[in-house]
Parts: sequence; structure tokens; C-alpha cells
Amino acid sequence: MLVLRALFITLILTLTSCGKEASNSVPSPLEEWISAKDRIRVLSTTAMIDDIVGRIGKDRIVHIPLISGEIDPHSYELVKGDDEKLSFARIIFYNGLGLEHGASLRYQLETHPHAVAVGEAVKAASPDQIIYVDRQTDPHIWMDIALWSGIIPSIVEALSSVDPEGSSFYEANGDELQSQMLEAHQLVAKDVHQVPEAKRYLVTSHDAFNYFTRAYLATSDETTQAQWQIRFEAPEGLAPDGQLGATDIQHIVEHLSQYKINVIFAESNVSRDSLKKIINACERKGLTVRIAQGVLYADAMGGIGSGAETYLDMVRHDADVLIAAWQ
Ligand SMILES: [Zn+2]
Repeated sequence: MLVLRALFITLILTLTSCGKEASNSVPSPLEEWISAKDRIRVLSTTAMIDDIVGRIGKDRIVHIPLISGEIDPHSYELVKGDDEKLSFARIIFYNGLGLEHGASLRYQLETHPHAVAVGEAVKAASPDQIIYVDRQTDPHIWMDIALWSGIIPSIVEALSSVDPEGSSFYEANGDELQSQMLEAHQLVAKDVHQVPEAKRYLVTSHDAFNYFTRAYLATSDETTQAQWQIRFEAPEGLAPDGQLGATDIQHIVEHLSQYKINVIFAESNVSRDSLKKIINACERKGLTVRIAQGVLYADAMGGIGSGAETYLDMVRHDADVLIAAWQ
């Protein structure tokens, strides 16, 4: 094990120092994660989980996301160095609910001794809150801040199980974060509801916004009567694949016409091709529809300067993009 670890550290330090001066450089998060001795090494599949884990574990842990940048988590397959990250992590947090369905990653998650599916924990605690699309579980639960705060107990419990001395620290951080998240949730809902309900119809590339729509766009009657789905349409389904048939386009064009929608939204990590096809089809029908300024973040948080660098900022950013376009 020690030999393996030394080899891994050498490999990663070599990889991460490629293309830059090795000396006098500030250690990258990955270098810090690898060389940490007295802290718990935690790996999360997505940045949205990693952000929450960091706020609970703070300086008792070192944490990195496996999938960073604008990469699609749905079909993510392991790349060089990932196997080692997965095996050196003391705990792995992943979404579950069918999100990480790339075969190589799924196998590692299913066989790791300390892999915790935070989304499955939310489903177990609140099964009636889970959305199904064509009988498939919609995994995008992070798009509803209050629902996403439901991952906190499973993270507190997992960290406490490997670090019992820190359990009251994790619990206190979890409680504080829960309050912050519920407050942020209410503020987003209040601000989005300043937009008249006739305008709160969202059309975007892939099916990432069902939870967001139910939480922030629907009227309370629509939520209680399970009628909120009319406020959200996406041509590409739960996992973006860029395959768009004539029937899909026709369906979206009819929807835009029916609800008098004149603006549609691009997502940061999804090609705009399908949106452009929709715009062209609308033009042929004499409908004027435009793509909104700014992008929405759903499956990946934004990079530095995007205004969506943290989980809560990401949801807030999306709300602000919608509000601005619907004015
Ligand atoms: Zn997605």
C-alpha cells in the first residue's frame, strides 16, 4: 500500500506540474488532497456535492470533485488518474439516482467500501419529492435548494463514522448550512415570483430543470395539483445527447406557440445546436423566439468569474439569468 501510494503521489505530482514551473508554485487542490496527512481525504463525483461536503467538513477534511469543469456527469467515464483518486479516497460521495451512469465510474462506486449516494438518501427520506420522467428517476435534485439540503444528514453521518471526534463539529456545521440553504431557497423563490406567472415558462436544452421549475417557477396551485410540468420543456431528455428528431422540434415549437414563449435558454455544458434548430423551426412558422443572454448552469458549476462558482451562487445565478430575460 505504501509503495502504491508513493507511486501515485509521484504520478500525480508529475502530471499536475506539467507545463508549469515545478518550483515555487502554490500547491493545487489535487496536490494538497494527495499529500494531506492528518485530514480525511474526501472525493465527491460532482462539484455540487463537493461544495456542500466542504462546508460541513471544513478544515478537518481535504476534498476535491472527481468531475470538474464543464463536463457532463451523466456519461462520465474514468480517465487516467481517476482510479487512483477513487481508491485513495477515504469516503466518496456521489449523487446516485442514475446520474453517474458511465459504466467504469458506476462500477467503482458500487464496489468502493465507503461510497455514499447522497441522492439516494434524499429519496429514502422524502420519496414523494422525487420526480420521474418517462418512468426514469430524474437525478437533478440539486436544482431545488431545500431538497438538496436533504443531503446534509448523510454527509454528517458518513464523516462522523470515520472521524467520531469531529461529529459535533460536523453536526453544528450541517445545522448552520441547513439554515443558510433554506434562507437562500426562500429568497430565490420570492425573487423569481416577482416575474408575472404568464412569463415563467422555461425552455432549455436538457431535462435538468424539473426540480427548479417545481420549486421556483410554479404557482402554489400548480405545485399542489402536480401541474407544474407545463412550465418546463427540454428537447434532449434527462441526459444531453445532441440527438434531436423532427418530432422533438415540432413538439417544442408547438409548446412555445401555445404558451407565447419568446425566449429560450442555453446551458453551460450543452451544445447550442438543438436550440438553434428550434429557433430556425420557429422562424419558418413565423414565431419570433430568441436565445437569452447568459447561460444557465445545471450539471456543472461555473468557472472563476462566472458568478456561479459555488453551489448557492450557481442556483442564484440561474434565477438572475431567468429574471433578467423575462423582464
Ligand atoms: Zn443533467
